[in-house]
Amino acid sequence: MTNRISSKFAGKRVLVVHAHPDDEVLFTGGTIAELTMHGADVLLLTATLGEEGEVIGKRFKALEGSDLLGGFRIRELQDAARAIGARSEHLIAPGHLRDSGMVSSPAHENPRALVNCVDEAAGGIEKHLARFKPHAVITYGPDGGYGHPDHIAVHQATERACKAAGVTNIWWTIYQREAIYQALDTVTAADGWHTPSDDYLHNFTNAAYDLKLPLSDAALGAKIAGIAAHPTQVWLGNGTVTETNPVPAWAICHEPALAPVAYALSNNLVMPIIRAEYLQRSRGESTPLDADLAADAARLHTADHKPLNGDVWEEFFNE
Ligand SMILES: [Zn+2]
Repeated sequence: MTNRISSKFAGKRVLVVHAHPDDEVLFTGGTIAELTMHGADVLLLTATLGEEGEVIGKRFKALEGSDLLGGFRIRELQDAARAIGARSEHLIAPGHLRDSGMVSSPAHENPRALVNCVDEAAGGIEKHLARFKPHAVITYGPDGGYGHPDHIAVHQATERACKAAGVTNIWWTIYQREAIYQALDTVTAADGWHTPSDDYLHNFTNAAYDLKLPLSDAALGAKIAGIAAHPTQVWLGNGTVTETNPVPAWAICHEPALAPVAYALSNNLVMPIIRAEYLQRSRGESTPLDADLAADAARLHTADHKPLNGDVWEEFFNE
């Protein structure tokens, strides 16, 4: 639970739709915390349990490649949702839709894989839209943020459901390229970690954005606490240890005003946590074209979004 700071957003409802446990904090943890701290009701829908995730830390490494990992990650998701003040529900039911893994992996062929159930997922989201009647919806853009098939499926399902329900105030969460590069330059990777390549960062980031949501210290703290709740997936570089991963990592953050903390996923590539989150206004459903993925990704990442000034939160709720 986040602490209530004001009632500025009392009566406002925001639906956030993600693919796997940990996406909610890595992409949108600060935004959700900022909203709930000021009284908004945030409903988080998670489509899968992230059964295909790799596991950081030796103790639970054996869960890798097993559906049991999904059960383990339910608890991580619950802890993270509590840290950022969101109500957490599973898109259909826990474990009903399965992590699709990467293209051409066996997980992709599973009939329960999210990529094979996009219409069912859209139907599930539509039911939540009818009950919850959100003032704003947050999900991924057409490339799913970084091309993961489940993220793209969530984009398609959410856009489809919103269209059917007549919901138009939809936002896409992105990592903003310049901000990530600038912050990364101020971080020294922990022992055993590496700096990501430009190719990796270009895939993960978008140059263009519409809204920059600055995070208060309180929201940032809640986001970091939420990330710390996913120790099988994220290794925080601030010395955090858990029963899951008792090995501390120290990434030195030379300019906390830009990047107070850094982390790594199971790939051991250092990434900064920054003091803002970025959104693009939805342009409706679209699918990256397989034929020319690189050109299409470039188009998606630099499309004609222009930063909006003024009261960004007013803009956020403005249909
Ligand atoms: Zn994900």
